Amino acid sequence: MKRVHRTNVKAEIVRERGAKETIHRKLIDTPDGADRFVLTEFDIAPNGSTPPHHHDWEHEIYVLEGAMDLVLPGEGRSEKVEPGDAIFIPRDEPHGFVTGPGQRCRFLVVAPCERPPVRNFFLSDDPYEYTQMPEYVNAREGK
Ligand code: ZN
Repeated sequence: MKRVHRTNVKAEIVRERGAKETIHRKLIDTPDGADRFVLTEFDIAPNGSTPPHHHDWEHEIYVLEGAMDLVLPGEGRSEKVEPGDAIFIPRDEPHGFVTGPGQRCRFLVVAPCERPPVRNFFLSDDPYEYTQMPEYVNAREGK
């Protein structure tokens, strides 16, 4: 058994192409002995996003705090998700996350350990925008 508190897991800037104002914490990862699934907390600041993309594996998502738009390019629409919402993204379904001005969102993602990168298609070439860890990450946690 392993127990970890989120504040003891290093926050890292998400540097995927097209990701903006997004950090994540790998709460449970392969170095912990996970060999099928990993659990990651994402935190998207105002005007942030993860790039719309799709891949040959599924996501389970659980919204903890704040709100964001779940973007569904395949359906040409997006919808607002809020704390308590659980979301399943089947394999190959295009998806992305966007926060508006003054909107933040913290959510959990469960994904398989083995994620074939060749199936990961990004539809955006926007650069990531964090060059250093945002102040609120440490300030909010009293560190
Ligand atoms: Zn995805």
